[in-house]
Amino acid sequence: MKRVLVTGGAGFIGSHLSTLFLSRGWQVVCIDNFLTGKPENIDHLRRERNFRLLEQDVSKYIEFPDSVDLVLHFASPASPFDYHRYPIQTLKVGALGTHNALGLAKAKRSGFLLASTSEVYGDPQVHPQNEDYWGHVNPIGPRGVYDEAKRFAEAMTLAYHRTHGVDTKIVRIFNTYGPRMQPNDGRAIPAFIAEALNGDPLTVFGNGAQTRSFCYVDDLIEGIYRLSQSDYHGPVNIGNPNEMTILQLAEKIKEITKSLSQIVFKELPVDDPKIRRPDIARAKTILKWEPKVDLTTGLKHTIEYFKKVKQEKGVLEWQK
Ligand code: NAD
Ligand code: UDP
Repeated sequence: MKRVLVTGGAGFIGSHLSTLFLSRGWQVVCIDNFLTGKPENIDHLRRERNFRLLEQDVSKYIEFPDSVDLVLHFASPASPFDYHRYPIQTLKVGALGTHNALGLAKAKRSGFLLASTSEVYGDPQVHPQNEDYWGHVNPIGPRGVYDEAKRFAEAMTLAYHRTHGVDTKIVRIFNTYGPRMQPNDGRAIPAFIAEALNGDPLTVFGNGAQTRSFCYVDDLIEGIYRLSQSDYHGPVNIGNPNEMTILQLAEKIKEITKSLSQIVFKELPVDDPKIRRPDIARAKTILKWEPKVDLTTGLKHTIEYFKKVKQEKGVLEWQK
């Protein structure tokens, strides 16, 4: 039986990846320090014989005695709200954490896959973004702690591939959503759903004309699984090219939740990218992958999840 070690395995994407690898016959070791992830995200896995949790900070030396076939390095704050709150931890896990995870992969002679991001393209001047674009990033702005850490992580990953021959992969993830996002993590979809379900105004930043392209988590993790099993070492965009404005997104969530909430406008955060849409030609060719879940279906699943959490935890606790 093969063993995969998932850093950040108790996070939103990490918990879905752990579930997928278990269902495909792998042993899964989740490493997490619960900086932004929640123990509840892996409650459904705890009784599985082939699942193990290690509570560790991967920015420090990673202790793991047994053999490993694949390291998936997903540990990092991911929402702008979280990496503004934890700027130094974000830089450390992108730099030191990636170095440690690569060192482990080298020592175990295992594969390695880095969770990179569309943020490496910054506020892009090329549209849609393909993997050959080098990006437009402000290194000293508030988003720089995340963007530059991920750019460093990509450089380190390819250095381990070229210097030590580690079998590395890099996925550039575009905005992804679904169950197990935190209702208070500040990203647009959880924020709008929580506001709609609470009957509060939906807070759109700026005039809402900035665009994003949202991918449902089940599509994303299938793409990541395929990339992990491929022999392609360059970066690969995974995302859904269905682009919309943030105002359109807020209106869609209002419509699906049948919310009577108003939409209010707040100041646009510094360096907020104005446009974003993945060019997924590489993923289509190399992985034979493309997203299947449309926005309405994905949002309905996510809204159901949020309603359940609200019901179970109660109005006062569900966003803590
Ligand atoms: P998340 O915050 O839900 O998960 C991140 C997990 O990493 C959390 O469980 C957190 O506790 C853990 N973690 C953070 N620092 C750690 C450390 N030093 N040691 C051990 N564990 C640590 O975020 P997510 O949305 O699931 O994102 C997962 C990965 O995917 C991140 O690397 C992120 O940069 C990348 N990504 C996500 C998106 C997206 O749309 N969700 C987009 C681009 C990239
Ligand atoms: N956004 C918003 N209201 C919110 C949260 C986010 O209008 O409550 C906007 C944000 O300014 C950005 C877009 O929605 O333009 C997507 O933000 P998110 O934090 O989800 O991800 P990003 O792509 O910026 O990392």
